[in-house]
Amino acid sequence: MNGPEITFSVAPELRLFLPPERRLGRTAVVTDGSSTLGHVVESLGVPLTEAGRLLVDGRQVPVSHIPREGEHVEVLGVDRPQRVPGAPLRFLLDVHLGTLARRLRLLGVDAAYENEDIGDPALAALSAKERRVLLSRDRGLLRRREIWAGAYVYSDRPDDQLTDVLERFAPELAPWTRCTACNGPLTDADKDSVQEQLEQGTQRTYDVFARCTVCDRVYWRGAHHARLEAIVASALRTAGA
Ligand SMILES: [Zn+2]
Repeated sequence: MNGPEITFSVAPELRLFLPPERRLGRTAVVTDGSSTLGHVVESLGVPLTEAGRLLVDGRQVPVSHIPREGEHVEVLGVDRPQRVPGAPLRFLLDVHLGTLARRLRLLGVDAAYENEDIGDPALAALSAKERRVLLSRDRGLLRRREIWAGAYVYSDRPDDQLTDVLERFAPELAPWTRCTACNGPLTDADKDSVQEQLEQGTQRTYDVFARCTVCDRVYWRGAHHARLEAIVASALRTAGA
């Protein structure tokens, strides 16, 4: 290529997306003279979902800016908490993020999740149709134009993933109000109404029940409760911080 040469740097939290030789600071990039800055940023590996403000010689420019000779481009990270305009905040998680999906639901956050791999085009279309923020660790998926909004999930550990999403989007939390299996809303249920679905031991031991309004699954304060309580308590601390 023989186009304009620019210099390029990104915020520290975005360096993992760059090839190793570009991670230490400013590096030179030769562009083709017609591609937008958004395209240049993506072609260097940074998903636009992760790019906050774009600065050229310290001045903010849109992704449609076409870089010119000698410009210095800086890519900042997204503001936290990040506001997603135009729709209630809800999420769609890709097939690899099942644990994160269940934890978000435990906290009452609307988190759609496909158990089967429906493929990138279908996921992106679902994000657009239902106006859901697509969460993924797949940069190729996040580059798809159709998606409503997206966010890269930085860690592969569910604890850290949850903290990352809570800090980034600051969703409203309503623990114990949503079905962890299907994402449906829960409603209170009295013992008589759930009796048929319970085993004998459960019937004797527990009195507080809830039922999913979508899949009919019944919830009660059972054996896993202490572990779930700990997840909820930790999330509430993160949200309050
Ligand atoms: Zn359900």
